[in-house]
Amino acid sequence: MHVAGLGRGLNLGESTMATPSSPGNAMKSRSSQTDMRVDPKPDVSPFEIAKQALGHVGRFQTPPTPSVYEVWYRYVEGVDDIIANLSHAVEDVNSVTVDMLDQLHKQYCVPSETSNQMMAEELIGEMSSLQAVVDDQIQAGQTFGDSINEACDSLNQDNPSLEIVAACAKTMLVSNAAMQQQIKQLNQQLQASQEKVQALQHELIDSQRATMTDPLTGLGNRRHFEIGVRKSLVANDRDQRNTFLFVIDVDHFKTINDTYGHECGDKVIKYVASQISRHCTQGSISRIGGDEFAIIVDVADHQEASEIATELRKFFASTPLKLNASGDDLGTIKLSIGAACLREDDDEKSWFVRADKLLYQAKDGGRNNAVVEHFR
Ligand code: GH3
Ligand code: MG
Repeated sequence: MHVAGLGRGLNLGESTMATPSSPGNAMKSRSSQTDMRVDPKPDVSPFEIAKQALGHVGRFQTPPTPSVYEVWYRYVEGVDDIIANLSHAVEDVNSVTVDMLDQLHKQYCVPSETSNQMMAEELIGEMSSLQAVVDDQIQAGQTFGDSINEACDSLNQDNPSLEIVAACAKTMLVSNAAMQQQIKQLNQQLQASQEKVQALQHELIDSQRATMTDPLTGLGNRRHFEIGVRKSLVANDRDQRNTFLFVIDVDHFKTINDTYGHECGDKVIKYVASQISRHCTQGSISRIGGDEFAIIVDVADHQEASEIATELRKFFASTPLKLNASGDDLGTIKLSIGAACLREDDDEKSWFVRADKLLYQAKDGGRNNAVVEHFR
């Protein structure tokens, strides 16, 4: 299926996954972390959880592979993030894909902290062997130096005999050959070690990136957003900036799901994400709920912040979309936006709370609307 709008198309086709979305869900997810959090069902035995998990494997026609089973097990067990991500998809048995479950497995079932910890330990181990290589090199240099000194002592005698000179020359040649050989070996070890360290560093970076990426849109996820907020607080302490937080929510998004199906809803979310990224290249953008996005961006003044909000809102409101498969009009996407300016006394929560309140003012004001806070 492909949705296009007056020359601008939604890129449909990749398999996707659901994430939490309703204001209730979004509010709940705001205070939470991406790490696996379980809300255990008090009276349910592991045996019963396993039985129900297998039931889901059958009901949703997903193969009983270990990773798929584990996601269902965690779902039944009550892992918040998995429930939030699947809550929408499970409404329709055909919406749950293996791809979706695999993504969830990667994100929530292999605790990233643990795998990062393992990689960090491997890295430290590799650094120690690098240190050992360097120590060996120093030791080899010392041995070589000792042989040379010994030879020099013999040569320093008055009128050293021809035999002594020949013996010294031989010692130097042998020591030099041994040294060359050792250097060669050490260099090989050093290179192998460096390659391993580099590979581990890349793995670590990839793994950290994965824990901060929203799988549907490729934007940052909630954790990415929370880190962005913390960074802004620190930067603002250092040098005063005009940093704005925009919280953006699609108006009546549920109607798209209800009318055109969940898959189409996903495409629309991806479209909205890509267009926000295209319009706001300077900002740090995250998807913080189902149809809810956040942008953190430095601006020159209130006017610039207002322009960002207006431009985004107007772009979507003036870009009609069509369903490619049927040619049906999807209408235009309307956004409500609340934007708050970071204050000196803000903490990790207060800034977002203000922006969120402004978002709901925008909704109450009739939607397709933006409320941008003035500097204090
Ligand atoms: P409002 O104008 O008040 O924002 O109303 P709304 O219909 O947009 O409702 P709201 O923002 O509260 O909820 C968005 C809905 O999006 C709720 C949920 O059913 C749906 N949803 C959440 N995550 C996903 C997702 O990943 N994919 C799809 N297709 N739908 C999702
Ligand atoms: Mg909405």
